[in-house]
Amino acid sequence: MPETVRGPVADLGATLMHEHVFGLSPEILWNWPDVPEGWDLERRAREAAAKLDALKAEGVDTVVDLTVVGLGRYVPAVQRVAELTGVNIVAATGLYTYDALPPYFGNRGPGSLFGGPDRLAEFFVRDIAEGIGRTGVKAAMLKCASDHLGMTKGCERVFRAVAEAHLATGVPITTHSHSASRGGLEQQRLLGSLGVDLERVVIGHAGDSTDLAYLEELVANGSYLGMDRFGIETISPFEDRVAVVAAMCERGHAGKMVLGHDSYCFNDRFDADVVRRRHPNYHLLHISRDVVPELRRRGVTGDQLHQMLVGNPRRIFR
Ligand SMILES: [Zn+2]
Repeated sequence: MPETVRGPVADLGATLMHEHVFGLSPEILWNWPDVPEGWDLERRAREAAAKLDALKAEGVDTVVDLTVVGLGRYVPAVQRVAELTGVNIVAATGLYTYDALPPYFGNRGPGSLFGGPDRLAEFFVRDIAEGIGRTGVKAAMLKCASDHLGMTKGCERVFRAVAEAHLATGVPITTHSHSASRGGLEQQRLLGSLGVDLERVVIGHAGDSTDLAYLEELVANGSYLGMDRFGIETISPFEDRVAVVAAMCERGHAGKMVLGHDSYCFNDRFDADVVRRRHPNYHLLHISRDVVPELRRRGVTGDQLHQMLVGNPRRIFR
């Protein structure tokens, strides 16, 4: 049974595969606590739970929270949200960097200044097997990232550790990829070379691309496509995002796509007012209210929508 913040559940139901509850900058909050984006756990937890309850009312049962180390993961706060909402939250482990590793890891391990064992995989496995921090919440997804810089040395170490933890635990992998440089292919090559079955991998942010040949190649290699940034219009507008999903459905790939917004209930790294003005649809309800109806208008069937929202997530977490 898939693990969630509240413990294992029999069925995840309709699932958004790439969201975030909280994105936090602990060092900023420690040192400049009076910033307007300031942090109050109980207040932010109540706000987040209300947003998730509104999502539940639209028929979504589960969100996968891909906040890992590097994005300000703080699971005790997510646990409080989980107490307050009916939505299942799946926790993740991994590390988010486009380039160098945080010094804790960068100064350890192979090829580093001081050498010694690489602790990344050990930490990831601990999050999955024993739980994150002292919460007992078990991670059910592994995440690694590469972006416009390609597979840097730091990224490669994270991918290797994620692959090792995946092979040890069976927990699926999702990536953050850079579609403009067709970065998902490089990610697949590395993970495949490390013995990962690419059918257990979601290439995240594939939906930023309008290059159907690229998406076909990712699918042919076995992975799922994360059509997971609905609402981030500056990278790819609504029209293009729905057109790509509809086209891929028409080509028979509904069984290989998952949906999401990559939204945050609260994120201190964005100016919330600016984001609301410039990306009015960048919120948890956009898929239910705007994307699904538009996909239906474009001929995507109820069965295909069910695959993307229910069947594929179920298979990924099998
Ligand atoms: Zn994300």
